[in-house]
Amino acid sequence: MIITGDSLIGGQAVKGTGAAFRAYNPSLQQSMDPEFTTADVNQIDQACRLAEAAFDTFRSLSDEKRAVFLETIGEQIMALGDVLVERVMAESGLPRARVEGERGRTVGQLKLFANLLREGSWNDVRIDKALPERAPPRPDIRMRMIGLGPVAVFSASNFPLAFSVAGGDTASAFAAGCPVVLKAHFAHPGTSELVGRAVVKAVEICGLPAGVFSLLTGVGNEIGQEVVRHPAIKAVGFTGSRGGGLALMAVAAARPVPIPVYAEMSSINPVFLLPKALATRAEELAAGFSASLVLGVGQMCTNPGLVIGIAGPDLDRFKAVASTALAGGAACAMLSPGIAGSYKRGITQLADNADVNTLALAPQSEGKAAPALFDTSSAAFLDQHVLSEEVFGPASLVVACKDIAEMRQIAEELEGQLTATLLMDEADLDAAAQLLPVLERKVGRILANGYPTGVEVCSAMVHGGPFPSTSDGRSTSVGTGAITRFLRPVSYQNLPQQLLPQVLRDEGGAPWRRLEGELNHK
Ligand code: NAP
Repeated sequence: MIITGDSLIGGQAVKGTGAAFRAYNPSLQQSMDPEFTTADVNQIDQACRLAEAAFDTFRSLSDEKRAVFLETIGEQIMALGDVLVERVMAESGLPRARVEGERGRTVGQLKLFANLLREGSWNDVRIDKALPERAPPRPDIRMRMIGLGPVAVFSASNFPLAFSVAGGDTASAFAAGCPVVLKAHFAHPGTSELVGRAVVKAVEICGLPAGVFSLLTGVGNEIGQEVVRHPAIKAVGFTGSRGGGLALMAVAAARPVPIPVYAEMSSINPVFLLPKALATRAEELAAGFSASLVLGVGQMCTNPGLVIGIAGPDLDRFKAVASTALAGGAACAMLSPGIAGSYKRGITQLADNADVNTLALAPQSEGKAAPALFDTSSAAFLDQHVLSEEVFGPASLVVACKDIAEMRQIAEELEGQLTATLLMDEADLDAAAQLLPVLERKVGRILANGYPTGVEVCSAMVHGGPFPSTSDGRSTSVGTGAITRFLRPVSYQNLPQQLLPQVLRDEGGAPWRRLEGELNHK
């Protein structure tokens, strides 16, 4: 399949009239063919209107038909073969194994949502039948979920497949019956077009209205803001910087009809080294932590950017082993020059801070990132908010506390996070129990004896958390729970059976239903 540099609007390849740009190969540090163009305001309007026009047909499809559509997208992505893998590698600097793994995850996510649709519980059917003899009489009331409407999805730079054009946000929006207007990330426009064409092909194969999916290519904040402002758009899915997420939240809130923004922004993912585990296996924990920190050149939203332990010889052993492992780490290409520049600024700021010691700082080079490890006292950490800000890349800060109470105080002061990790032994249960209530308030996922990078895609996964890790801590962007972001409930009171949606009818309704308050399966 050839990359033309176009946007894909309702199935048509369209040249934008805005600024031209090229993709950039961060490993070779050179720009790539072809030239891409930026979609203009009229094209954005057209994509959003087509999505609006497609919504009623798309959401009224049977669960089976939408499941087949999701699976067809996966098949079309696989059919792109090595062309896709090589383009992702060239645009992201990520190695083949990671890209192939991410492709598998992307297709797996699409299948997971197809299975969710077939299983049917997402409809959340509730039926309270009429009680005409009751005083006062109760009407027949039935409820189900429907899609919100067209969703604007912003691709993430750090997952060019799994969190981009046909990634988790798109899969969950499609599963909910919502058309998608996709803002491609400027760091991987060729990857976006290839996957976009695979989605367009799936739309054609399944005979769906063309407006179910559009891909908007371009540079500049205006495209994304214009999409979010468009009255046809009813929700937003975003993964990226805190600044970007906050800007889009402000645009969404300023609309005449405000809409929800599900933005995943920044997280430093604290790792708590509990004392007994640290005493018995400081070296092993340091090795595991170092490997997690450098995964994907540290460009993971779940990167362990903060380590909290109790000062003493055990923490010193942990720091010594981690420092040696990280200081020897090679500088690797980051996803884009912008991300490399912000990593460099972040580690320079830490290295220049009078209250921070540099434990490991491998030589850095242009456009690349080498690992970095710093440490500081609990007093300095609690005093300087800047020390709890995300440095996106393979850098982490160790904070030395005097006891568990102080660890708990640090946890209490943290902003909302995607994850918190407890590295613990059985003898640490009491200490962990002291931290747990605080962590439950602060994070979306609590792990024991693992590392936060590597997010399982399953129905119990929460990849979300209180602000600012996400804009709305009631949701997850990974796993089947992600569908709820794009749904809303509708009740039907006393409607004749023929007018009720099929899932709410007495005959042939949804397999899962909460009948008179009791959940059961037909
Ligand atoms: P980004 O700058 O937030 O961009 C993400 C997307 O949002 C792009 O499509 C961008 O396109 C758009 N955007 C950004 N600011 C916008 C604004 N003010 N108005 C409208 N649209 C806007 O993120 P990035 O380029 O992926 O990476 C930059 C930094 O984000 C990283 O250094 C890192 O700190 C953070 N990041 C965090 C995570 C995470 O999971 N926590 C993941 C990736 C990146 P345009 O610029 O073309 O508008």
